[in-house]
Amino acid sequence: MPSTPEPSLRFIIVGGVAAGASAAAPARRLDERATITVIERGPDVSFANCGLPYFLGGEIKQRDALAIQTPQTLKTLLNLDVRTNTEVVAIDRAAKRVEVRNLAYGTNEWMPYDLLLLAPGAVPIRPRLPGIDDPRILTLRSLQDMDRIKVAAAAAQRVAIIGAGFIGLEMAEQLTRLGKSVTLVEQLDQVLPPLDRLMTRLIEDELHRHKVELILSDGLTGFETTGAEIRCRLASGREIVTDSVVLSIGVRPDTALAKAAGLSLGARGHIRVNEFMQTSDPAIYAAGDAVEIEDLVSHEAVAVPLGGPANRQGRLAADHIFRPAGSVRAYPGSLGTAIVRVFDVAAGLTGWTEKRLRAAGRAYRTVTVNDNDHASYFPGAKPILLKLLWDPGTGRVLGAQVVGLGGVDKRIDVIATAITGELTIDDLAELELAYAPSFGAAKDIVNLAGFAACNTRDGLVIPVDALPDNPAVQVLDVRPPPLVQAYPIPHAGVINIPLAQLRSRWGELDRARPVVTVCALGKTAYFAARILAQNGFHVYSLTGGIRAHFDPRSPAKLPTT
Ligand SMILES: Cc1cc2nc3c(=O)[nH]c(=O)nc-3n(C[C@H](O)[C@H](O)[C@H](O)COP(=O)(O)OP(=O)(O)OC[C@H]3O[C@@H](n4cnc5c(N)ncnc54)[C@H](O)[C@@H]3O)c2cc1C
Repeated sequence: MPSTPEPSLRFIIVGGVAAGASAAAPARRLDERATITVIERGPDVSFANCGLPYFLGGEIKQRDALAIQTPQTLKTLLNLDVRTNTEVVAIDRAAKRVEVRNLAYGTNEWMPYDLLLLAPGAVPIRPRLPGIDDPRILTLRSLQDMDRIKVAAAAAQRVAIIGAGFIGLEMAEQLTRLGKSVTLVEQLDQVLPPLDRLMTRLIEDELHRHKVELILSDGLTGFETTGAEIRCRLASGREIVTDSVVLSIGVRPDTALAKAAGLSLGARGHIRVNEFMQTSDPAIYAAGDAVEIEDLVSHEAVAVPLGGPANRQGRLAADHIFRPAGSVRAYPGSLGTAIVRVFDVAAGLTGWTEKRLRAAGRAYRTVTVNDNDHASYFPGAKPILLKLLWDPGTGRVLGAQVVGLGGVDKRIDVIATAITGELTIDDLAELELAYAPSFGAAKDIVNLAGFAACNTRDGLVIPVDALPDNPAVQVLDVRPPPLVQAYPIPHAGVINIPLAQLRSRWGELDRARPVVTVCALGKTAYFAARILAQNGFHVYSLTGGIRAHFDPRSPAKLPTT
């Protein structure tokens, strides 16, 4: 006698891109019998939104490469019921059903679910400013947004990009590639706001090198959109006259549906979830840009609107639903590991930055080290700069930022792994990483950062991150004179004694006054600091050298301890 088939589970997914698609596919692999329905408001599913800027700039040639899957292929491959141009407009939690509107026909129907996943993502922020509704002021989230920007850019000679975060920088690069005259406006005093400011200087230089006009510390106040030109008004009173505008000032979670359904939301409107991505209603899961999750370092609730977390969270929700109870590992938390390319420079970060640690009042120590992406004697070595932050109590790594012309991704990923594994600065010093001259160095920059951090912890050196404005402090430049003449430090009273002469000439310095040693990259200054310290000087060293940290706009105070 054939057994009576069990009723199959009805799993509805709202949103069919990163988190939604990442849940649907493993769900099917775990349960052939479930009824899996993906409802997507837009015309496309499972498209690569991270690739949108690169089609605009022509690096990705085929639009189709960004949207490989269609409802038909997903039906064939995974037996998914994918409904595009369809929106979930209400959730009836008591009856476990969603109201679905077919946007093409304007018809509504109710669909029952056993379990629901909300993966609605986020929407670009459009502040209510004068002139904002002009259709030439564009944002980038979907393939259709991309098409609109492509048409606008084709007709434009000048493009203003508002917001110098990840997407703003990618757009600046790609539109410059197209030969557009690009102005990039940022309200803060730095590009890439998540990073510490000094780590962004190389990117600013790279933008200038490629003739991107960069306006910092000036916020947008509105647009004057009469006539063919658009005038972007800035807080300083300055006006940018342009043909087209791309707004990239961040995203907000698309959680009106969740809010109307009475699900618990965080302070900034993100959906609250537990470690298995369940919302305050255990029959409703949520994942992706719409949720707030735990920070891996601080265990506080944070929003991390990035592709990697969205994909892993979607998969975890499916695992929790379809794998045996108790067999699924909880979400470990997010680090916010991210990377961006700006022409030839890449910048990445993972974990906490100095400004975030300082704002949170958390104890930390930091060093910045310079090196090359592979052995400097091997052709093609490219400079790389790494800033490391750690907990002075435990030695645990809290965060890192890496910027450079090569090998940034590898170092950021190594340190992201180190933070996840709760490794310490001593572990970084000891990490055995792959080495051959064309790939790395016998002491990789990650090891160097570990050495420098341990030296700091052990009191061998006291790093400072800028030159003091105190005339009582002697600033000692230990570079060879030709370098000093070619690249003088714009700081009063700098004494030059090259490292090679320091043992015979330190008597020229006043032992009663503190000394800050300076060199190009930080290493020679450390060697000099060790010579002076062992000769009775109270000595500090400029971490990361002039190349990394010299910033006359923010002179540092010497630490008092
Ligand atoms: C231009 C660009 C570049 C990016 N580059 C990177 C990168 O390099 N690295 C990185 O880590 N991240 C990047 N991101 C971020 C990354 O794309 C997002 O973090 C990720 O897509 C979030 O996934 P999600 O599923 O939460 O949201 P989305 O991928 O946005 O998908 C949400 C979908 O839900 C649909 N939806 C919303 N509400 C409803 C409803 N009520 N009914 C039906 N459908 C609904 C929306 O139409 C949308 O298609 C980039 C984003 C953009 C826009």
